[in-house]
Amino acid sequence: MTRLLLAITLMCASLGQAVANVAVKSVRFWQAPDNTRVVFDVSDAPEFSTSILNNPERLVIDIKKGKLDLKLDDVAISSTLIGKLRDSTPPDNQTLRLVLEINNRFDVKSFALKPYGQYGDRLVLDIKDLAKQETAPVIESPKAGQSRDLIIAIDAGHGGEDPGAVGPKGTHEKDVTLAIAKRLADKINAQKGMKAVLIRTGDYYLDHRKRTAKAREKRADLFISIHADGFKDKRANGSSVWVLSQRGAQSEMGRWLEERENASALLGGEDSLNLSKYDNDVAKVLLDLSMYNAVGSSLDIASSVLGEMKHVVPRLHKPTVQQAGFLVLKNPDIPAILVETAFISNPKEESLLLSKNHQDKLAAAIFKGVHKYFEQRPPEGSMYAMNKVNRHVISRGDTLIGVAQTYQVSVNDLRSKNALTSDVVRIGQVLVIP
Ligand SMILES: [Zn+2]
Repeated sequence: MTRLLLAITLMCASLGQAVANVAVKSVRFWQAPDNTRVVFDVSDAPEFSTSILNNPERLVIDIKKGKLDLKLDDVAISSTLIGKLRDSTPPDNQTLRLVLEINNRFDVKSFALKPYGQYGDRLVLDIKDLAKQETAPVIESPKAGQSRDLIIAIDAGHGGEDPGAVGPKGTHEKDVTLAIAKRLADKINAQKGMKAVLIRTGDYYLDHRKRTAKAREKRADLFISIHADGFKDKRANGSSVWVLSQRGAQSEMGRWLEERENASALLGGEDSLNLSKYDNDVAKVLLDLSMYNAVGSSLDIASSVLGEMKHVVPRLHKPTVQQAGFLVLKNPDIPAILVETAFISNPKEESLLLSKNHQDKLAAAIFKGVHKYFEQRPPEGSMYAMNKVNRHVISRGDTLIGVAQTYQVSVNDLRSKNALTSDVVRIGQVLVIP
């Protein structure tokens, strides 16, 4: 009798265990302009399936051996795409069935993420709002005689599930990068002949391919990724500017940073399968000669930005442009730079990063560096190219007639443009070419 009772008890216990293998502990919502990411924190690698029901629109999630470890009524849904999260009658008693009521027609991509960083196992649903599908951008080519705006893509690092580095006061890198990116966009949009495209506009994660794809779709002339460093040693400080290196980082700090910034993909929730595939694609793209050209101008833009930043930051972490293999800089055809604005892990610099005044100074310095570069080397067809003032600095042996011939202008025009009273020029004199 006792033995039988024990056997029954054991059976129940093991049954109970089997049913409650995957506990759903919490849920987060990250709304982007055209999709919402829903993340369930679960106690173990989930086995699950999803299905879509229409009229009304619903997403059904069946988790094998799932159980609820949270009160669904307490869940705050911070997405206008999602109406409600509830449970429903499961197909069998081994399954937990959850239902998301969706406010628009939608599509879904779902995957599980293994524990990484501060996160345990996660079940991720990317719900695409089909009503907000971005239509293909209409990019008008400027008419003859008209110039086009320079397009500057500004990428605020991290976002959503991926906070980036976290400061001693708890400041998230993703928040300061967005604040600085928005200020930079304002400055760019206030400049005639330049237009900003914010790659990320709110608190959500975008994978690296989407970030660069958006820049390419908008035909960006430059891609600027904004970040703030984090290091295990709180004393580390200063700003740095980076460009892509095909070989990977030169310095130990660079390697550490490269690893950390690239880990963002795992933290933010990218399919690791897709990621490795992406790297293969990138490897192929790297062979493209245009890549080398883009890296070349990236270096010049980066030095121009670094040259301006040194006036507004307490210290440069590195006095020269650094190179590392950041995923987000792997644009095959667009010059790309990555600005590490400061060390958020350093208490003093964390405070600076939170200061609106300092955020503005950083944005102004980046803007100035970019503006100066394009003034010097404006892409063809841009307003910068049309407004470019050609100057010639007189060196030994130069004559006024010689300069006029070089630039194919008349001596008279050259004389009047520079208000010259004689044809004698001296070494070092700067002539504006009409
Ligand atoms: Zn970062």
